[in-house]
Amino acid sequence: MVYIRWVDDFWGNCSSIGPYRKLNVRTINEIIVHCSATNCPEYGPKEIRDDHMIVRGWSDIGYHFVIDPTGVIHEGRNLERAGAHVRGRNSHSVGICLMGLDNFTEEQFTSLAVLVRILMKSFGLKEEQVNPHNKYANKLCPNFDLDEWKETHLSDGGKKWKQFMN
Ligand SMILES: [Zn+2]
Repeated sequence: MVYIRWVDDFWGNCSSIGPYRKLNVRTINEIIVHCSATNCPEYGPKEIRDDHMIVRGWSDIGYHFVIDPTGVIHEGRNLERAGAHVRGRNSHSVGICLMGLDNFTEEQFTSLAVLVRILMKSFGLKEEQVNPHNKYANKLCPNFDLDEWKETHLSDGGKKWKQFMN
């Protein structure tokens, strides 16, 4: 089972994600996880981008990545640029959004683990630097228990991500 399909082949594949190190990216010291807070299947990456750009007038989608229910990872705002997803912590973070309200799929959770592991490796981050939006805002976002997800998917105990990494 391979859930990972990059919509934009910029990274090539998981093992070549290292190129981000060579880019002149900002200092990144945190990964923040969100959800789109809707069950509407038509509200995907393009609609989120339209919402952020047309409705809110931002320069681009606020998130760096959006993971759809099939586990596909969509690249959003370029990592070189600060996102717009968490008040006060945008400049040094990466924003990842899971499509959905509270019914996330195993494919999404696994893709999230792979993506987060890649980013952790690229930027030298620890698990403590992966946090939910609700740590910094009086919101429920991302509507699931990130600590529990870390235990079951991200930690060595979970090993869900290992088959995609070398
Ligand atoms: Zn959020």
